[in-house]
Amino acid sequence: MDELIDKMKKYAVENKVPIMSEDGISFLQQFIKKNNIKNILEIGTAIGYSAICMAKVKDSLQIVSIERDEIRYQKAIENVKVAKKEEQIHLIYGDAFDIEVKGNFDLIFIDAAKAQNIRFFQKFSPLLNEHGYIITDNMYFHGLVEKEDLANESKNVRKMVQKIQNYHQFLNELKNYRTTIYRIGDGIALSEKLSETSIDELNPKNWTVYK
Ligand code: SAH
Ligand code: MG
Repeated sequence: MDELIDKMKKYAVENKVPIMSEDGISFLQQFIKKNNIKNILEIGTAIGYSAICMAKVKDSLQIVSIERDEIRYQKAIENVKVAKKEEQIHLIYGDAFDIEVKGNFDLIFIDAAKAQNIRFFQKFSPLLNEHGYIITDNMYFHGLVEKEDLANESKNVRKMVQKIQNYHQFLNELKNYRTTIYRIGDGIALSEKLSETSIDELNPKNWTVYK
């Protein structure tokens, strides 16, 4: 099994597939364990690396994962088979925006086209269970989001940085989610869906003032 992981990592380097960093993977695995996550929707399978790593946490975990690139999707099918995780990982081929996903999830993992994160969030967040979480990868965009001077970067890079900043702001402004950005891998956003009562607790109008 670990031989497969090594093989996938090598394939990713050779074919420039942006798979998640090792510390990002261990963050996900610990998160799944700690929060008793039972099912996951992943946007952006690539070759199935993150899905397989997550499925390894426990046999009862169910994962639905979407990929629009046919070659990567085929590779993911192959890898899931070798990993013997077909009963846990359900791969869907197509553009996430065209696909109607049925079901409810404890965790939605967004790791696809970075410029589309707001739209992914809007489309899939209704599928989240109460007390669910949305995790988004690449919040730093290779460190560029935090770089002060982008004058030497290309127009495309600057546009992408702007899009990620917009997404960050979008997350911060959501009243029914609490977002934390972790300095892990390329930056991971963890957005926790708040219950009605905890939203009330966050409203200063409901605070008790002790004098
Ligand atoms: N989660 C993977 C890496 C995903 S890389 C891992 O860590 O192992 C991002 C992937 O998202 C790419 O393969 C890309 O083809 C896919 N993608 C981007 N936009 C998409 C969309 N709208 N629908 C489905 N897949 C998308
Ligand atoms: Mg990523």
